[in-house]
Amino acid sequence: MKKSKKKECDHVYERNPYCGAWVCVKCDDHKGLERYFCGWSRTSSNGYRELLEMGETIEE
Ligand SMILES: [Zn+2]
Ligand SMILES: [Zn+2]
Repeated sequence: MKKSKKKECDHVYERNPYCGAWVCVKCDDHKGLERYFCGWSRTSSNGYRELLEMGETIEE
C-alpha cells in the first residue's frame, strides 16, 4: 500500500440526524457510502448532482 501524504482521518462516526447516515464528525465521511442524497460525495462536492447524473430517482 502506498503511503499517502494526506493525513489519514481516524474517523469518528456519529449518526447524522439530518441525512440518517453515519457521518465522521471530523472529515464528513459517510461510512460505507460513495455519495448520498444529502449532497455529500466522496469524490466531488455535489453528491446530489452525481446521483441525478447516474439516473437515480430522488423523490422531492
Ligand atoms: Zn473522518
Ligand atoms: Zn449526509
